[in-house]
Amino acid sequence: MISLKKRLSLTYAVFISIALIVLTLIINRFTVVMFSSLVRDNIRERSEEIVRTISGQYNPDTGEFDILSLEATGMHFTHEGYIVSIMDNQGGIVWDARSCDMQQCVAVMRTISDRMENRFQFKGAIQTSIYPISYWGGTVGTINIETYGPIFYSETELQFISTLNRILLAAGAALTLVTVCLSIRFAGSIVRPILKAGEAARRIAGGDFSVRINDGYKTRELHELSSSVNELAMELEENERRQKQLTSDIAHELRTPLTCLQGNIEAMIDGIWQPTEERLESCHEEIIRLSKLVEDIDTLTALEWDNMVLERTDFDLARLALLVAEQFIPAARQKGLRIILDLKPSPLNADYNRIKQVIINLLSNALKYTASGTITLRTAPAPGRTELSVSDTGIGIAGEALPHIFERFYRADKSRSRNTGGAGIGLTIAAAIVKAHGGKIEAESEPGKGSVFRIVL
Ligand code: ADP
Repeated sequence: MISLKKRLSLTYAVFISIALIVLTLIINRFTVVMFSSLVRDNIRERSEEIVRTISGQYNPDTGEFDILSLEATGMHFTHEGYIVSIMDNQGGIVWDARSCDMQQCVAVMRTISDRMENRFQFKGAIQTSIYPISYWGGTVGTINIETYGPIFYSETELQFISTLNRILLAAGAALTLVTVCLSIRFAGSIVRPILKAGEAARRIAGGDFSVRINDGYKTRELHELSSSVNELAMELEENERRQKQLTSDIAHELRTPLTCLQGNIEAMIDGIWQPTEERLESCHEEIIRLSKLVEDIDTLTALEWDNMVLERTDFDLARLALLVAEQFIPAARQKGLRIILDLKPSPLNADYNRIKQVIINLLSNALKYTASGTITLRTAPAPGRTELSVSDTGIGIAGEALPHIFERFYRADKSRSRNTGGAGIGLTIAAAIVKAHGGKIEAESEPGKGSVFRIVL
């Protein structure tokens, strides 16, 4: 399998190299075209110069050209690649480079055509331009200039072009090399965080939840990746902590009643205590309480560990409150308590059974911790929210205990709560359910006067 770093580097390198090659070719084409037009202008200007020079060798007094000078300049132009012949007005040849030195003319033309064809891949032909020789407004003859056309380069010009091409090639190659190196570096900077995340995930899978990626990447996706790995590690670490805490809490909660039961039963087996009906009943009650505790722990674990999947439906909270309250009426009556209902229709979209559990827990607490007086169940709908409160005229909760009552296994008064059968889980369950609904639960209390528990959904 090809590595991501290799694939990224290759992709970047190939794309950028293609771009560089195309760019080099364009620059090369552009330069050659510009240079050709420059050379074409040069050839034209040189031809005009030749005409001017030769015209200057006409002697108006004799009406003839200075042949010696013509030969000197004409052969000089031949060396440059301009083969000149001069005619008079009657068409007679005054001077002709070919007649003067045919060998030289052929050699010059061959050199130029070889240079253009072999080194510039340009196939031209000999072209003739005719210029009149004017003197004081009159024409005294014509000049024919033969050149290799439509364009030819001198040795210097050709060298310039090939040097330019070499520079472009070298620059292109150097840039490609730099690009490949940069691509590898760049690919590495993307791949490194991914490898790091993979390594962190492996360590997490191996049970090391303390691992964190603290590199603060500036690329959004890489930042998200490292954050997700960190969140995963934190979540698992928190879960592990909760699991350890729960195990130790449960052990702690079970130890006392089990020791108590064990002691009682051993005393009866050893004959220290008579197994009276009353004692057996007490043991039985303790076992029932333990079963209830295990059941509560089960519920709480399910709530805390299953991320609480809510089955939301639309219902009237007031109707639900009434239904639950009716179940508590016999027990309340037995204790001489009055249940007051102040229920206004309160439409709600929530998990019916879980909200029912919350009301049951609040009402059973009110019943447990109230010796006389009343328990009031109230619903108060408001735009965008629904409120439910359970108030009692019971023992109340001390100020220092109030902030802790929603904590797992917390009891404000341990001895009394144990007598009332509480394990300190009921409110934890209620709070977890309300929290899962995005709501809040709060308690107000005055010791000796009573308490109010309010949930807002
Ligand atoms: P428990 O099963 O012990 O009642 P909870 O989680 O329901 O556990 O409540 C935690 C503690 O909060 C109780 O032990 C009790 O001390 C206090 N508490 C809860 N509800 C009331 C109430 N209505 N009046 C007085 N104290 C209460």
